[in-house]
Amino acid sequence: MDKLINSDKAKELRRLIEESEKIVLTCHVRPDGDAIGSTLGFWHLLRTLGKEACVIVPDKAPGSLYFLPGFKEIGVYTCHPEFCEKTVAEADMIICCDFNTPSRQDALAPVIQGAHSRKVLVDHHQEPDNFADLMISYPDMSSTCELVFRIIAAMGYYSEVNLDCATCLLTGIITDTRNFTVNIKHPDLYEILMRLLEKGVNKERIVKEALNTRSFWSLKLEAFALSEKLEIFTSHRAAIITLSKDDLTRFHYEKGDTEGLVNCPLEIKGMVYSVFMREDSDCIKVSARSCDGFPVSEICKDLYGGGGHLQAAGGEFYGSLEECRRLLIDSMNKYDKYLPKGARLVIT
Ligand code: 5GP
Ligand code: MN
Repeated sequence: MDKLINSDKAKELRRLIEESEKIVLTCHVRPDGDAIGSTLGFWHLLRTLGKEACVIVPDKAPGSLYFLPGFKEIGVYTCHPEFCEKTVAEADMIICCDFNTPSRQDALAPVIQGAHSRKVLVDHHQEPDNFADLMISYPDMSSTCELVFRIIAAMGYYSEVNLDCATCLLTGIITDTRNFTVNIKHPDLYEILMRLLEKGVNKERIVKEALNTRSFWSLKLEAFALSEKLEIFTSHRAAIITLSKDDLTRFHYEKGDTEGLVNCPLEIKGMVYSVFMREDSDCIKVSARSCDGFPVSEICKDLYGGGGHLQAAGGEFYGSLEECRRLLIDSMNKYDKYLPKGARLVIT
């Protein structure tokens, strides 16, 4: 299980952990289950090892992750900037989880990059920037949580994984694989699941809390988006959903309410990719998903200055919602070459 991890890197990380007393764990802005699961999972391990560890995140995590053990201990930079800056400044080591470039941390980026402590990257996104002293990057992992579990095993700390650590790690695996349905490259992920279940993890509860629980208004917003705001481009086998600030206000939008919406159009037979555009306070947040190996990461990189994974990516657009939508529609031809041959999308 730990054979995929370079043993020199595992040894080096173990040495750094042993030498450090105060350790900060951090992740990307708009943290998801994998970002919070990997930082909190690591946090539980470090506490078991007797370290003074702290999770510092750029902004608030969605309420669907509130059930995670340790969630309330997380330092949120937008809420408590001074506490976060002090904690980062005093750290001996910073572990950066689930992001591949400093800009993914928004306003927290200069704080982390300006710190003098040693930095370790633990991530599964493609083409990471070389910003850490120790780079542990495995883009073929389903999730950063899968990677963290393998690193922990490779460092020889498996027996220190307690129920809380296991719960956090399984949460990130479940959210990034949508409960073991996508992004699995290594079949022994199921062996990792078995190991986590052996630690006593309640998988049903995680699936219910992190994937299948939502507010009344979130459900209404999704229904509205699918019935009123979904556009289908049959020849490109693509779907776009746009939600304006007014739409969001009308449905009492809260962070995380549109989580999963971008996946819905992919349920249509023959659909290859789906792009969701949400008007945020300062930009249009773009979220994209695909199947059949179609590279939405390229679309997000080319058009929206973002990236991510081949079949799950995102970006930001600075301009109006309509301009954001238009840009994609006008560019669709360019990406037709990646569509799988043969099958078609037919809407009758
Ligand atoms: P989501 O659609 O869930 O926000 O993100 C899907 C994937 O794309 C995640 O792996 C995430 O890290 C990546 N991603 C989302 N937004 C951005 C962005 O603005 N820039 C980059 N580089 N990656 C993003
Ligand atoms: Mn992830």
